[in-house]
Amino acid sequence: MTGTPRPSLPSRPAVLPPPPHPTPPKQPCGGLPGRRFTDTGILLGLASEPDLLDEVAQRWGDRLVIVDRIQGELYGISRPTSGQAPKVRAAAAVVHDRMRAGTLPSALRLTDSERTYARTLRAQMGAIKKIPDGQSEGEAHVLSALLRHGDRLNDVLLVNDDVPARLARNVHGVATGPISAVLRETVHAGNRTAEEAMTLYARLIAISGVPARLRVIKAADLACTC
Ligand SMILES: [Zn+2]
Repeated sequence: MTGTPRPSLPSRPAVLPPPPHPTPPKQPCGGLPGRRFTDTGILLGLASEPDLLDEVAQRWGDRLVIVDRIQGELYGISRPTSGQAPKVRAAAAVVHDRMRAGTLPSALRLTDSERTYARTLRAQMGAIKKIPDGQSEGEAHVLSALLRHGDRLNDVLLVNDDVPARLARNVHGVATGPISAVLRETVHAGNRTAEEAMTLYARLIAISGVPARLRVIKAADLACTC
């Protein structure tokens, strides 16, 4: 043994501090009082039952926020060349027509800096879980708008996918809801029973794009509990 000091091990990379973890407001079954920043899947699901879309639009009024990117996605989906199923194209056309007719609010136009921020948010989603290119960009735009224009204590990001929802809740402290939360709001409002909401939900989940593992399976989950 020569007593040569062992080369020191390379130091471990510094552990990054955990991301901020504010607690988002808890949603009552009637929903928070603020705005509903809404993604494409939610609008497609609602519009596949046009009366439901009209009911919700009336309930929320100007509190329903549709950003320009989502309007563009819906227009693209509505076109015959989109390759989407006829029912999905029809639902997209319903939203597009209502926006043009003014029974849905007109689109909120994001600024360049908000679009840039959407790219950051999309990258943050990719850090939670690997997402295929091109996916979840709409949700990133909606969340960007909410974080720049919204009221974090009262507004809700309506998305079905869990990755954008986890980013919004766990990192940015924003309440989120899938389309089942929208139906629960209508039950709370007395517009239908939980069983009727469940029947509607079963009809629209595929068009809304609710991932199978996240689907509500019993009417009790849509019941008013307050
Ligand atoms: Zn209730």
